[in-house]
Amino acid sequence: MIDQLVHDQNAFFASQQTKDVRFRKKYLKKLREVITEQEDAICEALYADFKKPKFESMATETQFVLAELNHAIKNIGEWSEPIHVSSSLSNFPSRDWIQPEPYGTVLIIAPWNYPFQLVIAPLIGALSAGNTAVLKPSEFSPNTSKIIVEIIQKVFPPEYVTVVEGGVDVSTALLAQKWDYIFFTGSTQVGKIVYKSAAVQLTPVTLELSGKNPCVVDETAKIPLAAKRIAWGKFMNAGQTCIAPDYILVHASKKEVLVNELKKHITSFYGEDLESSKDFARIATTKHYNELKQKLEGQNILFGGSFNDTDRFIAPTLVNEPKLDSELMGGEIFGPILPIISYENESEIHEIVSKYDKPLAFYVFSQNKKIQEKLMHQYSFGGGTINDTVVHISNKRLPFGGVGSSGIGGYHGKHSFELFSHHKSIVKHATWLDVPLRYAPYKISDYILRKIKYLF
Ligand code: NAD
Repeated sequence: MIDQLVHDQNAFFASQQTKDVRFRKKYLKKLREVITEQEDAICEALYADFKKPKFESMATETQFVLAELNHAIKNIGEWSEPIHVSSSLSNFPSRDWIQPEPYGTVLIIAPWNYPFQLVIAPLIGALSAGNTAVLKPSEFSPNTSKIIVEIIQKVFPPEYVTVVEGGVDVSTALLAQKWDYIFFTGSTQVGKIVYKSAAVQLTPVTLELSGKNPCVVDETAKIPLAAKRIAWGKFMNAGQTCIAPDYILVHASKKEVLVNELKKHITSFYGEDLESSKDFARIATTKHYNELKQKLEGQNILFGGSFNDTDRFIAPTLVNEPKLDSELMGGEIFGPILPIISYENESEIHEIVSKYDKPLAFYVFSQNKKIQEKLMHQYSFGGGTINDTVVHISNKRLPFGGVGSSGIGGYHGKHSFELFSHHKSIVKHATWLDVPLRYAPYKISDYILRKIKYLF
């Protein structure tokens, strides 16, 4: 079945229909129409999967992709135009240009934490650039996966875009095929498997992976605002956000006030009875829920710490000074648990941050410009924010992606179009003149040869 699917997609791509920008726009508009129509149903599916609050579903999933769609529909005409560049003297007379062209058939594999956005946003990029696509949503967000199938079937012929549902076995079978591009979002561990499979066919990839994102709060930070913005970025989606702050490094002199402010804001967001809040999501999978519970064992809890197995609830939780060799600090937490670690001097920040691989995000809260700049320059990370968390993802003019073990490649807005396009270089050489110097037998003196560099 998968063989046939890939065969059909290749044949459809070969028919050249997707090379026509009007064709791409027609389908992107149809996709926009159906997502708009189905917005409530998508939010209900997300709620059924892990009680994702409607506000978060709209802000981070449906409205997010609708913004991407609007931007693409408005701009793909311009993005697809050839980019003319000046020619080199050695080719005189010529016209030279870069022609963006689609790769062909794209495989998109997505995780469960933003299960709608992380399937549809890369799809918009792939289609804007003129590719066909096969989508593999996560098996751990079945309700969202089902509505994605319905939407895709309503909008696209299967040889243009198709969804293949399933788990690791299906994903493995898909990866065994020859693709023209693979776009993967998920864990670093699985990213390595995807990269290996892609290497067999020399398939280009984008890998949107994970990391342990530091959040530094220094002694000059505006603590009440910092606490509010950290609590928002951390506990949205119940902490299951790849760019959520993973742990806080706070100057020892500000720790107590920061913790008090965090407690205050968590309570003001979700109420005294955290479990009954309609604005707080659940952990999406039992496996992940159990892992998070285990990470809390033996930790010194400053706030929260309660859980409920019936619907995989874990309260927003603050942990005091966890040991760096504890399970909690071993890797990405990816849940509503926030370790608070104090430092006395900058070298301690460095000691902890440099213990981990390059993170996907980095946050610094400080009124000191020198510290802001220093930390933003000192470390390699995917993207970051000064005096806020997470919001760098909301600007479609900024490429979103990781570096090192947190990923390869960046997308959103025009960057998605660029990512899913091959940039073909073309020289159109005039025929009315043919400078003879390059042809054998070579007669040019060494003196002239040394000037050739000025002709390129
Ligand atoms: P995951 O890596 O377990 O799974 C992602 C996808 O890969 C799923 O569709 C799954 O079916 C498939 N998969 C799983 N194991 C596979 C295997 N052995 N071979 C082939 N395919 C396989 O990730 P997850 O648990 O679904 O998502 C959470 C992770 O994703 C977190 O680490 C998070 O940081 C990361 N993430 C990153 C971003 C980003 O933009 N960088 C966004 C969201 C999530």
